[in-house]
This record gives sequence, C-alpha cells and structure tokens, in this order.
Amino acid sequence: MGNNEFIDRRSVVAAGAGLATSALAGPALAQPGARKIGYAIVGLGSYATRQIMPRFKDTEHCRLTALVSGSPEKAAKLAAEYGVPARSIYNYQNFDRIADNPDVDVVYVILPNSMHMEYTVRAARAGKHVMCEKPMAISVRECEQMIEACRRANRKLMLGYRSRFQAHNIEAIRIARSGELGPLRTITAEHGFNAGDPAQWRLNRPLSGGGSLMDIGVYSLNATRYLTGEEPVEVAAVEHTDRSDPRFRTVEDTINFMLRFPSGVIANCISAYSSAHNRYRVVGSNGWVEVDPATPYSGQQLRVRLRNQTQEREIRETKNQWAGQLDHMAECIRTGAQPIVDGQEGLKDVRIIEAIYRAAREGRTIKLA
Ligand code: NDP
Repeated sequence: MGNNEFIDRRSVVAAGAGLATSALAGPALAQPGARKIGYAIVGLGSYATRQIMPRFKDTEHCRLTALVSGSPEKAAKLAAEYGVPARSIYNYQNFDRIADNPDVDVVYVILPNSMHMEYTVRAARAGKHVMCEKPMAISVRECEQMIEACRRANRKLMLGYRSRFQAHNIEAIRIARSGELGPLRTITAEHGFNAGDPAQWRLNRPLSGGGSLMDIGVYSLNATRYLTGEEPVEVAAVEHTDRSDPRFRTVEDTINFMLRFPSGVIANCISAYSSAHNRYRVVGSNGWVEVDPATPYSGQQLRVRLRNQTQEREIRETKNQWAGQLDHMAECIRTGAQPIVDGQEGLKDVRIIEAIYRAAREGRTIKLA
C-alpha cells in the first residue's frame, strides 16, 4: 500500500440480502399469518445440516417440512430436532411419494453434483418447485433437461447461488455497475481450497463431474458474470494437475482461466484444489472495488480505491445470505416472479465450464458467442 493511501472505516453502507428481493415483495407477502413456503431437503450432508437447515429460523416466509436421506437414523434424529413429522421423511427410493405431501412446496437438492439432474427432474414431476445447489449439473445437456422438466411442470427452478443474497457482494455489484470506477477494465477472481480426503465424492469424477472448477472455481466464474452483468465471448485456460497425487486421479486440481467480455473487460480467474483463495477485485479506469474474502460463509470485507485513497466500507447485513436465498424463492412462488438465479443462470455457468475444460484440453481460446 502506497503512502497516499489510507483506510477510511467511517464509511458505512447499509445493504442486505433484502435489497435483492424487496422489489418483489407484493401484498401477498405483507399479509400477516400467510402460510409459509414448505421446503424438503434432499441429502443430509455437511452443507444441508450445517448451513441450510439452521437458517430456516432466520427466514420470514419459509419452513422446513420434509427430509430425504439414505440414512434413516440420521433423518429421524434431524426430524426430531427440527420438528419434521415422521410421515415427511423419505428415502431415495420412495422420494416420488413427496407428490402427495401438501406441506412441501419446494424440494432443495443438496446432493453430489451428478445427482442434481435426477432429483430436480423427479421433484418437478412430483409437482414441486426446485432449489438446486451449484454447480447446476455436470453437463449442459443435464441442465437443459432440468430446465425443461420444470418448464413442463410449470414449477420454478432456482440455483443455490447464495452470494447473490450476501450484502458485500450486492454492494460490490452496485459499485461495479454504477460507473463510479470508470469503464471496467479487468477482474481478478480467485477461489480454491486444499482438498482433503482422497475418498470424498468431490474427488470422484462420476459423482462430481469434475474437479476444482465444478466445485469452487465456479464462484470465480459466477462472480465475473454478476459483477459485470455481461456474458463472456471468449475463454482461454491452463490446467495443472499432479496425477500422482491420490486426490487427483480423476479430477483436475488447478485450472486458471481468462474470460473476455463484450465491453472489453478481461477477467483472470483462479480455480484450485491444492491452495486456498477467496477474493475478487474489479478494476476500472478510475479505481477498484474488492471483496476479500469474497464468498465464504462469513467475514466478507469490501474495499474501494478511488482518487488515490483506499476506503474500507462497513456493510450492515439486514438478513444473512441463506435466509435471503430461501426467502427469495418463497417470494417468487407467491408473486410469480422469476428467481434472479434461475435455471438459465446455472446453465450459463455450466456452458462456460465446458468451454474452459475444452480450452485447456485443446490449448486454444474458445469463442463463446
Ligand atoms: P456432503 O458429502 O457433505 O453431503 C452430500 C449428501 O448427499 C450425503 O450426506 C448424502 O446424504 C447424500 N448422498 C446421496 N448419495 C451420495 C453418494 N453416492 N455419495 C455421497 N453423498 C451422497 O456434500 P456437501 O453437503 O458438501 O455438498 C452437497 C452439494 O451442495 C454439492 O452439490 C455442493 O456443490 C453443494 N454445496 C454448496 C455450497 C454453497 O455454499 N452453496 C457449500 C457446500 C456444498 P444422506 O446421507 O442424507 O443420504
């Protein structure tokens, strides 16, 4: 940091997940005592049990009404903890009976990536709206099948892109698109962690569909798209994977990629499974905004540099990112609005992911437009 820079902590910006959805709040939502939207969680793993299920208490419009699991003991224990009746516990075989459960409006798919398509399609056929975790699926073809199944059933499909409901990310989008940084020129976005147990599904291609890019690099990719509001037209990529490392027998480790956007913005992105990264910076002709860390569960910090001064902005969260995400789907169901992170949004990322893999494999830039 140069001598002419300083950090100004006085600047306070109030932002919250509510900003993303408040425009959708109609009279139906304002009614006191309106029936809450019921969610079934499919797959009671780490993300479901540690992050999603505990957040229902922070929502305004949602309740947890059913569980789907391959482990009856775990499901019974969690059902007792969350007040889910025994009749609303399902397994992967009898899941389709959820069609007869009027307490379930939304099925939230939190399974290994290669199972997202099957459970989204089955949920839509059962007449339920679907929330699906990232990455949407392991191929463009599967994403299209999911979109088609929900369209046919006239049900909503939303992706679990929680950062779109996180206050620092919402503020970074506002700043990046406001013009105050001048014309945007470059983005750097870095996401990675040091993958552990070689036996986990994330490192098993048939279940994960790919390595770091599918799991964590998708945050870098998604951020470049939501920060610019543009779709990339060209992609280049370089991969390095040590295949003798037992973690990387079937999936890639590091795959860095470069995206060119129509306005001329060029994004440099890191995706890694052997080193930790979590931040982005958007640079315009007049300055920059960065969120570092950008997409963890908590602890985001936002800094802006303008006129040779760097300022840390304190952002007040009015609602946590998970409550914002869950409530957004509820609001969309009640008002008929389209989720801001719908199936098309998930499909776009998977289409670019396929192009990134191809660019790395073929050693050339790939045109996307
Ligand atoms: P976990 O391994 O912790 O949980 C996955 C769960 O899926 C298991 O507990 C199990 O639930 C069920 N399952 C069914 N079949 C299998 C199988 N063959 N192998 C393993 N699990 C199986 O994974 P995560 O919770 O970390 O990830 C689940 C999804 O959520 C992924 O798509 C991931 O990308 C996404 N995710 C999103 C995050 C975000 O911040 N948006 C963060 C973390 C993950 P049961 O025992 O109940 O049957």
